[in-house]
Amino acid sequence: RAKNQGKAGYAIFDAAMHAQSVTQLQLETDLRQAVERQEFTVLYQPIVSLSSGRISGFEALIRWLHPTRGMVSPTEFIPVAEETGLIIPIGAWILREACAQMQAWQQQFQIAQTLTMSVNLSSRQFMQLDLVEQVNQILRESHLEPRHIKLEITESVIMERPDMAALTLKKLHESGIQISIDDFGTGYSSLSYLYRFPIDTLKLDRSFIKGIDVDGEKLALVKGIIQLARNMDMDVVAEGIETAQQLAQLKKLRSEYGQGYFFSKPLNSETATAILAEEYR
Ligand code: C2E
Ligand code: MG
Ligand code: MG
Ligand code: MG
Repeated sequence: RAKNQGKAGYAIFDAAMHAQSVTQLQLETDLRQAVERQEFTVLYQPIVSLSSGRISGFEALIRWLHPTRGMVSPTEFIPVAEETGLIIPIGAWILREACAQMQAWQQQFQIAQTLTMSVNLSSRQFMQLDLVEQVNQILRESHLEPRHIKLEITESVIMERPDMAALTLKKLHESGIQISIDDFGTGYSSLSYLYRFPIDTLKLDRSFIKGIDVDGEKLALVKGIIQLARNMDMDVVAEGIETAQQLAQLKKLRSEYGQGYFFSKPLNSETATAILAEEYR
């Protein structure tokens, strides 16, 4: 009996695994078509100056509108895009979109000159040998000044190949493009690497912000990171601010910038443009 049960259990497990790999394969096939059929869109989430309450920039966040499954989260499909290499055309597409949007805002709003557009780069994108040329080419084609673009990469991507990363970041920085470390604090704990790279901004991961208003240790850690960033002449963006209490704490610590649902969810182009029009009226 026990043996039978075991066998049945195995069969069920096997079927579940099979179903999962079919789903995975389907996702890959669909993702290929999505590139051709242009099923992606970009949303823009405001990054806010905490002292003035004004928008200092946006982060471009990709969305996939799947024909039958609806909205698929980037946390689900970016890893598949990485594995299949599809991240290369998808990444170029979103950078072009983001640059075009920022260029349109530059034309439309005079005081938008200090606005930045942050664009995420995944590991495989960052490792491309011609990344710097590609980015510069897209900037030229969109007639956008490089200082308006911030590329976000994580610590772990840098630490995969630190020497190559140092060279790439140096070249990007020399082109006038800004660099952010995304999800700061979740990856490598070694801080010494910060000195080796031209980094403009640390984006404090939202796990630090969650509970900052009740957890003294988190508060101390965030305080330390803000101090470190200030000493090294880097900006800090606190990610994932959801409550007025979290905002109050961060203001007390004199964190300069923040991003999160408390201010705004990621917005479509029309809505983002409308709130800029309101702000720059
Ligand atoms: P990320 O770069 O750290 O982006 C921030 C994520 O946090 C976004 O999720 C955003 O919608 C979400 N978020 C913002 N404020 C809050 C908040 O107050 N609370 C909570 N719980 N979440 C908040 P999203 O858009 O689902 O993106 C997830 C991740 O997917 C991104 O994390 C990034 O790693 C990746 N991703 C998104 N778009 C792109 C892209 O165009 N290219 C690449 N390579 N990766 C992307
Ligand atoms: Mg990001
Ligand atoms: Mg982040
Ligand atoms: Mg994050």
